Amino acid sequence: MPATRDYYEILGVERTADAEEIKRAYRRLAMKYHPDRNPDDAEAEARFKEAAEAYEVLSDASTRARYDRFGREGLRGAGGPATHDFSRMNVEDIFSMFTDIFGGGGFGGTRQRPRGPARGYDLQTEIEIDLEDVLRGAERDVAFTRLDVCGACAGSGARPGTSPSPCATCGGQGRVMQQGLGGMFRMATTCPRCRGRGVTIEDPCPDCRGKGRVPVKRTISVKIPPGIHDGQAVRIRGEGEPPPGDGAEAPAGLRGDLHVVVRVRPHRFFERDGDDLLLELPITYSQAALGAEIDAPGLDGDATVRISPGTQFGDTVRVAGAGLPNLRTGRRGDLIAILKIVVPRKVSAKHKELLRELAEVEEAPVVGEDGGFWRKLRERFAG
Ligand SMILES: [Zn+2]
Ligand SMILES: [Zn+2]
Repeated sequence: MPATRDYYEILGVERTADAEEIKRAYRRLAMKYHPDRNPDDAEAEARFKEAAEAYEVLSDASTRARYDRFGREGLRGAGGPATHDFSRMNVEDIFSMFTDIFGGGGFGGTRQRPRGPARGYDLQTEIEIDLEDVLRGAERDVAFTRLDVCGACAGSGARPGTSPSPCATCGGQGRVMQQGLGGMFRMATTCPRCRGRGVTIEDPCPDCRGKGRVPVKRTISVKIPPGIHDGQAVRIRGEGEPPPGDGAEAPAGLRGDLHVVVRVRPHRFFERDGDDLLLELPITYSQAALGAEIDAPGLDGDATVRISPGTQFGDTVRVAGAGLPNLRTGRRGDLIAILKIVVPRKVSAKHKELLRELAEVEEAPVVGEDGGFWRKLRERFAG
């Protein structure tokens, strides 16, 4: 699945779509691609997650504005909102994230998974490093924004000094029985009034507007191991969201993780091929013909490239151990010089003289000082 599809395109809405249209579009896609309707269909699951990602960004006015102005880049980098890492979340968790959309009916509420204490969601953010950092490893400050337990109400969502009351609709259970398919089934679904929390808040906390969570800016230092590849992530345990529920500081073990996806900036000279580095190296005709030893720029100091006599355009020379370290073993790959024979655009008089001499040895006709060769050639074809 291409990770670069436009979020509006994913949801199939116009860029001018209002919040309600976006919500409707997401609900439709989530129902269509829900794994319950598409068992063992990886493509459907990918679409389901892709739609959730698009909805997460477009349903929030501030992330949507950033996305509109800067595209996906606007959601990354220092201080940006850390988005949920949907690819690593299971479908039920994604469903339960957006209970306000599904109203607790339909899918999400019908399955119950036995599990231990609920964990917080994983988050994902991105950083950019240079190829030099891949060589040596790096340490970077990563700034991001995450939802944390609101300090004012300790996560209850109720105005400090007040407390939430048990939900009258579900009696505090968080779930209600509903008639399905015209009374053929009765099924337990998430309570639409309290959205499964079991409590309702009469007087919401002003800091979090009753949500119990507030966005908090955070900066942490992240160690990037040498040899990391573009697109790989460093996982920081316990830096994701706190587990669901109210109150006390959650133990770190129950927080989600933060996945810091590393992007490696393209280098001016080098291209990466696994642990090898490719370098286009210009050489002259005489170096190609006679052989040479050239000090080429390596990623850490010069690397000696040995060119054998009779080298052809595009031939490669390997300099062992001048590549990048392997992420696992630390063993360095090679530098591979791709040799390009360059022809001078301007030549000195001396240069010209020698080349004419060379042409004579090669018995290769060249243009004379008066352009004679081409004139003669044209005359011959003209008959
Ligand atoms: Zn609060
Ligand atoms: Zn309720």
